[in-house]
Amino acid sequence: MYYVFFTGTAGSGKTTMVKEFQEYLLDQEMDVAVVNMDPAVERLPYTPDFDVRDYVDAMEVMERYGLGPNSSLIVSVDLLLTKATEIKNDIGNIEANYVLVDTPGQVELFAYRDTGRTFSSLLVGDSKSVNVFLLDAFLARDARSYVSLLLLSSSVRFKLGIPQLNVLSKIDLISKDELNNLLEWGQGEGLMDSLGVIDDYSFELVKTLVESLEVPPIPVSSPSRQGFDELYAELQRVLAGGEDYA
Ligand code: GDP
Ligand code: MG
Repeated sequence: MYYVFFTGTAGSGKTTMVKEFQEYLLDQEMDVAVVNMDPAVERLPYTPDFDVRDYVDAMEVMERYGLGPNSSLIVSVDLLLTKATEIKNDIGNIEANYVLVDTPGQVELFAYRDTGRTFSSLLVGDSKSVNVFLLDAFLARDARSYVSLLLLSSSVRFKLGIPQLNVLSKIDLISKDELNNLLEWGQGEGLMDSLGVIDDYSFELVKTLVESLEVPPIPVSSPSRQGFDELYAELQRVLAGGEDYA
């Protein structure tokens, strides 16, 4: 059993991608299940095999404790950890080759708190897993935002400690030229020029960041499933590969 997590900033397209990618895999007769780990989502476009809202509903938490949306999500995830054993049993009953995991809107939970790591190890056990990090192409077409998003991606990669693939999501929303820039930046070319004048600290940071990219971000668009073949091929490579990332 392989677990594929989908993480990224709020609105980067995680939920949409989980839906389309599940259908894409089903079309190829693959055995695939979906887990919703977002306690705050209101409507899901897919039918989850496990839904964390059956345990904790962020809307309820918000009302009961008089919290705003951000803190209620954090409290919800903490509450979930108190129900870890039951959740683990439930998820353990899922039988599928691939389990796609939709994650909360707030990527901070995965980047800066221990909950993300706790969760992934809780779910996955000894199974192999990979994290797909979505960089919203509409935001990333600006060079500074692109670098910022890559830094966030690195944070999540570092914190979770599992193999990670970067994806440029929503490429249907940007122009050909903008996409070409992004593809070049992914190859480590032209980014410094696009950034213009930057201080020495930023220069070194960007250089390290670009050099540490194992695979260039994969451009995708969920509605048309553009780039899904490439993403699937990379997932196969990472999951089937002999490298031990644990
Ligand atoms: P999440 O918060 O990361 O789960 O993001 P959602 O999947 O809920 O998507 C946020 C918004 O972006 C929704 O309105 C989606 O319809 C839209 N969206 C997601 N993926 C794409 C895409 O590939 N192309 C376009 N044009 N819109 C997308
Ligand atoms: Mg979502």
